[in-house]
Amino acid sequence: MKKLLFLFSLSIFIACNDQNTQVSEENETATTTEQDTVQNFGIVIHGGAGTILKENMSDSLEQAYKAKLEEAIRTGHEILANGGTALEAVQRTINVMEDSPLFNSAKGAVFTNEGKNELDASIMDGETLNAGAVAGVTNVKNPINLAYEVMVNSEHVMLSGKGAEQFAKEQGLEIVDPEYFYTENRYRSMERAREREKKKADNKTAFYDPFIKDEKFGTVGCAALDKNGNLAAGTSTGGMTNKKYNRIGDAPIIGAGTYANNKTCAVSSTGWGEYFIRGVVAYDISALMEYKGLSLEEAAKEVIQKKQPELGGNGGIIAIDNQGNVSMEFNTAGMYRAKMNRDGELEIGIYSE
Ligand code: ASP
Repeated sequence: MKKLLFLFSLSIFIACNDQNTQVSEENETATTTEQDTVQNFGIVIHGGAGTILKENMSDSLEQAYKAKLEEAIRTGHEILANGGTALEAVQRTINVMEDSPLFNSAKGAVFTNEGKNELDASIMDGETLNAGAVAGVTNVKNPINLAYEVMVNSEHVMLSGKGAEQFAKEQGLEIVDPEYFYTENRYRSMERAREREKKKADNKTAFYDPFIKDEKFGTVGCAALDKNGNLAAGTSTGGMTNKKYNRIGDAPIIGAGTYANNKTCAVSSTGWGEYFIRGVVAYDISALMEYKGLSLEEAAKEVIQKKQPELGGNGGIIAIDNQGNVSMEFNTAGMYRAKMNRDGELEIGIYSE
């Protein structure tokens, strides 16, 4: 009987132990799976590239730029950390910079030769390859929001001028008096550019004098990867100081100023738009990754440090790939920029190091 009891207890002990091992193995599997499925995410922004030199910048202005870049990127990062989409993060991050007079975008937009502000913006969804863009709008407070509406609520990709403004009204977006976009700084820049142009009237190649120290640009852009592995990018700008004839730059051109594709990366450009259009910069970076197997860093370097300068263009890009790797490549003296990863590590830069 004792022997039987012993055997019975032994079998119960073995069974329990077996179960425990199973449970702990299950736990282990659960933890690994959980870790594997916690998607990397991240965000990167720019506030324009150009001749941005430390010696021309006061400490207080530098601090103001850094603070606004940080506010903007934290806005998007928080959305991503809470499980929001890359598209929403891009839009809201850009809104912060659009509302600031520091950047050449919405509130701080540069002036046309006629003394107006004509705004361009675009946004792209890397999951669906859906995109929206607007060009030459004069009374929409946040052009990136209009680009988003074009993407989700119209059958078109790009709207311009009066039609785009009509669509903005119909979508219930905030419309402002064009006076809202007036900033004295930017107006003076345009006047100086007009003066220079008068002096150079015979030299057609110097039509734009884009990287004069005080007239640096400040287009804004953002690229993000969300927890679901989706990429998005957006760009918003006033274009180039003293622009004429309803000139449109690269910012609202999908593939030049903005591109996003879950297969590769999300990119936003800033710089001399004519060259970025001709170089199809944002798409070129994605294509180099997709067809040539280059890493994001290699592709960005190839386009910004080699192909653009060879063509005569200057500027930069910010980009994030589908693994969360980030690039902030520029060939000018500076680019307002910031990046933040999943762990909340923040890096802000202005000048080239
Ligand atoms: N790329 C913009 C444009 O050409 C300007 C800029 O990024 O500074 O309109």
